[in-house]
Order: sequence, then structure tokens, then C-alpha cells
Amino acid sequence: MKAVQYRAVGAAPEVVEIPKPVPGPGQILLKVTAAGVCHSDIAVMSWPAEEFPYELPLTLGHEGVGTVAALGEGAQGVSVGDSVAVYGPWGCGTCVNCAEGRENYCLRAADLGINPPGLGNPGAMAEYMIVDDARHLTPIGDLDPVKTVSLTDAGLTPYHAIKRSLPKLLPGATAVVIGTGGLGHVAIQLLRAMTAVRVIALDVTEEKLALARTVGAHETVLSDEHAAAKVRELTGGIGAKVVFDFVGAPPTVQTAGAVASIDSDITIVGIGGGMLPVGFGVLPFSTSVSAPYWGSRKELAEVIELAHAGAVDVHVETYSIDEAPLAYERLHAGKINGRAVILP
Ligand code: NAD
Ligand code: ZN
Ligand code: ZN
Repeated sequence: MKAVQYRAVGAAPEVVEIPKPVPGPGQILLKVTAAGVCHSDIAVMSWPAEEFPYELPLTLGHEGVGTVAALGEGAQGVSVGDSVAVYGPWGCGTCVNCAEGRENYCLRAADLGINPPGLGNPGAMAEYMIVDDARHLTPIGDLDPVKTVSLTDAGLTPYHAIKRSLPKLLPGATAVVIGTGGLGHVAIQLLRAMTAVRVIALDVTEEKLALARTVGAHETVLSDEHAAAKVRELTGGIGAKVVFDFVGAPPTVQTAGAVASIDSDITIVGIGGGMLPVGFGVLPFSTSVSAPYWGSRKELAEVIELAHAGAVDVHVETYSIDEAPLAYERLHAGKINGRAVILP
């Protein structure tokens, strides 16, 4: 079968021919119907050899949707032919966090060497993939796989970030979304579906800001050195009750700190290496800064419910599996508006 693999540190991803996998006991074989292209893969492929944590070659793709093709011995809970989304942040299944479905915060995954598909385990950018356990599958029914696949990360990650801050996302409050790409353009829709806040979106190009407005941002601001002052002006000097930074780079975390209001949440989702100093008087009083990771199994089910309700519409550019390296090039160059999806 064809697979998109990262084969050597520093090399571009390649489309290669590898054996079709066979599900072991308890595992499920999926015929992949769609796989999403996340900016985190570009970060992973920029890590130096001495820090690279996974074995190579690595089949990419941590956003996956597929049809159940075969069940390993004893596997239960899904049937051949079911259309399912893959929950990516696999955990041990038994620690206190996993027991609540919060496998993204598994206490033992690192010790046990449990990794997500596409980030250590073979991922979804292939004709077939193995999922370790049926609990990591969410049925999607008649939802379109292409439109749904990125909800497993570009939907789930912002959903988790928003849900934690819901007590602050009250009518009259402002939420700022920095970076309106794959995750950010879904975050805007989730904020509009789940709250009555005013959404101000920041990005670096007019094209991205146009998409942000299309998907529901009330105001858009070019993300430059004047951005914080503009957000302050738009909020009557008060600032934002919650700031979501989907870039996480040094200039954007600085903007995040500068637009936060008293008693706000600053949530850094992007892994751009930015750091925000915290200390008395450094940020507005009672401001919390956090960096959450992905989301829980229950939250993925909730995001899929939102999709069934028609509340989220991922803006998708599709590519064949042979074009996957091109999709990564375009994402790296900032040319994807919305999410790139590979059709294996
Ligand atoms: P993306 O490339 O689709 O979107 C990033 C957006 O940020 C683009 O629209 C880009 O134009 C914009 N941008 C770049 N520099 C900017 C700046 N200075 N100011 C404002 N906007 C700027 O990427 P994505 O797939 O949506 O991922 C976003 C980030 O989230 C990445 O860093 C990714 O690694 C990270 N991520 C984190 C988690 C998590 O669990 N914490 C999960 C998924 C992705
Ligand atoms: Zn991702
Ligand atoms: Zn666990």
C-alpha cells in the first residue's frame, strides 16, 4: 500500500510502498478515507536528530477517518464497514485521567512508550492504518470524512481549550484568536457555536483574515506590532477575557499578554517556542496562562455532535496521497487557507 513517510531527519516526507498492516489481538484495521495535515508535523520534522523521539521511518498523519476493514482477534465495539474518526492522543486506558477519557493527559503514556498514530506509531497518511483499541474510535455515521477528519485535532484541540475557559466566555466578553489557520478557523466557529462572546481574530495575511470573517470573526486585525493597541481600542481599553494563541511564537505570546484583561485566561496552543513571563504585576491581575494538549475522548464525541448539528464547517483543500509532500510544502509556506486533507 502507499504511505506518506518521514524517513530521515531533515528530509522531506516521501510517498512509499509498504506492506498492508495486519491487525493484532484487540486491534482494528481501518481503510483510511481521509487524513489531515497538521502544522505540528512540520515542527516534528524540524527537530534535530539528537532530540528526535520517534523511530524512523514514521508514517505521518495524526488526523484520521476511515472505514473499519477488519477486526483483530477479540476486538469489539465496532463492526466492519463502520465509518469512524480516530482519537489520537492514546493513553494507557487505566490511570485516573484515562479512566475519565482524558487520555491526552495520561499519566503513564510516556513511561510506557505509548504514542499517537502519526507521532510515533504509524499514522493515517496511508491506505490502511492500525488503531490499537476500539475505544480510540468515534463513529461519525453519515458525516463526510473529508470535512470531518480535521475535527480530530484542528477541532478537538480548540474545543478542549475553549471548554476549559467557558466560565469566562460570557456574553459581553471578548475572545481573541491569534492564528486563523487549521486550528484557528475552527476555533472561531466553536466560539460562535458555544458562546455569545465577541471574537477578534489576528493573522498575518488579508486572505487568512477574510476566511476568519467568513467563519464568524466579528473583527479582524493584522498581527503586527500595532495589533495589541488595536485590540485594546476595539475593547474600549479593557482587553480580552480569553486569548487563544494558535501560533505560540515569541511575538504572538507577547501580543497575547498585551491584549489580556484583568482576570483573564491566556491559552497557548501553538508550539512556536514563545514564552510568557508570569509574576506579580507582570500580567494583569489574576491572569492564568496555560498550554493545553489536544482533548479528551468525550470531547471528541462532543465535537462530532457539533458537526452533526451543522455548527462547524472545516474549510478544506484536498490532495491525493501522491501530492502529500506538496501539501506539506504549501503548509510550510503559509499557503494553506483552512486545512489540507489527503485522500489516500
Ligand atoms: P496552520 O499553519 O494551519 O495555522 C497557523 C496560522 O497562524 C496560519 O494561518 C498563519 O498565517 C498564522 N500565523 C503565523 N504567524 C503568525 C503571527 N505572527 N501572528 C498571527 N498569525 C500568524 O497551523 P495549525 O495546524 O492550525 O497549528 C497551529 C499551531 O498549533 C501549530 O504550532 C501546531 O503545532 C499547534 N498544535 C498544537 C496542539 C496542541 O495540542 N497544543 C495541537 C495541534 C496543533
Ligand atoms: Zn496536530
Ligand atoms: Zn493513562
